[in-house]
Amino acid sequence: MILFEEAKRIVLSTPRRMGIETIHFHSSIGRIIAENVYSDLNFPPFNKAAMDGFAIKEADINNVLEIIETVAAGQTPQKKVETGQATKIMTGAPVPEGADFVIQVELSETTENKVKFNGHPKNNVIPKAKQLKTGDIVLHKGEKIDARHIAVLASVGHPNIQVYKQPIIGVISTGDEIVEPENTPNPSQIRNSNGHQLVAQVAQSNAIPKYYGIAIDTYEATYNAIKKGIDECDILLLTGGVSMGDFDFVPKIMIDLGIKIHFDRVAVKPGKPTTFGTIDNIIIFGLPGNPVSSFVQFELLTKPLIYQLMEHNYIPNISRLQLSETYKRKKADRQSHIPVQIIDSLVYFSNYKGSSHIHALTESSGLITIEKDVFEIKKGDFIDVRLF
Ligand code: AMP
Ligand code: MG
Repeated sequence: MILFEEAKRIVLSTPRRMGIETIHFHSSIGRIIAENVYSDLNFPPFNKAAMDGFAIKEADINNVLEIIETVAAGQTPQKKVETGQATKIMTGAPVPEGADFVIQVELSETTENKVKFNGHPKNNVIPKAKQLKTGDIVLHKGEKIDARHIAVLASVGHPNIQVYKQPIIGVISTGDEIVEPENTPNPSQIRNSNGHQLVAQVAQSNAIPKYYGIAIDTYEATYNAIKKGIDECDILLLTGGVSMGDFDFVPKIMIDLGIKIHFDRVAVKPGKPTTFGTIDNIIIFGLPGNPVSSFVQFELLTKPLIYQLMEHNYIPNISRLQLSETYKRKKADRQSHIPVQIIDSLVYFSNYKGSSHIHALTESSGLITIEKDVFEIKKGDFIDVRLF
């Protein structure tokens, strides 16, 4: 059995990286950028009015001024502003030569072609290149694309973006007792929640799930399923069959297929039998059969690796909040991950009955980690909640 940190270090030392493809940015949400992107323009490209108002010389702010022209956004000013003059200007328009100040229309009083101002507010000119200069880097390799990145890509004229290819991730459920959701289980069966949960976790990790269904608990069925999976996928996820039962064939088959097993027991709860192997470039996770264990180990180990294959440093969303009640445990030989609820910014323990209790997850806000050898966390202590 190895420590969780060691397991994570082993998983993340996998050298594999995905290739690159160019796609249109409309279909790039969630993808990882594979190139640095530079600005082809100054931002703003000219001295720009940030408000509707008047462009003047600041020294003239207390004087009655003559209005010499009106400039709308998208127009080029025709006249230089001299002492005693003002140009009416709209938000987004270029500030005319000679003017060094834009005062908002709300502070102006206009009569015919004259204007005067009440007050001396802050300047509403955004100077040329104040935000960015031509050639400045705007997006970095490894960033995950969301709506903010789309705006930047649009603004620098870069609608086709290089991204990392998405790994194809196979999911195989194992177990004679497992039936698919369409079916009604007989008294000794349960529905396959795990396999579908993993398909969803893969999709939420911006990779491509490939679902292989259920392999029954025979050596042959499990062998054939794993063999097919490693031929067709970048990462293969198996659930179940990694415990110590008579029909838990997964570890033996992995060895028979020539898969190098890097670890098969981790000091973590839930998820102790989590198994990790590689063969050539292909990565195999043997995840536990219980859905909470499988969920947690995917989040802790598989997801960061998926993103690392795409050169993205995955950082979960964390809220640091106070514990509402003291936590105690008798055994502290493993790192534990426990579902919690956040209510009024305090952390409450969920009504969690163990690693098959999937409903506890939908009723929780996230997970907390209790480190190995920690027996107690006191009420009022701050603790990180890893949000779902
Ligand atoms: P195993 O590792 O195969 O011994 O499975 C451990 C526990 O997880 C057993 O109670 C299984 O019935 C349960 N389990 C295994 N696979 C699934 C699945 N796909 N969905 C829900 N529960 C499962
Ligand atoms: Mg099983």
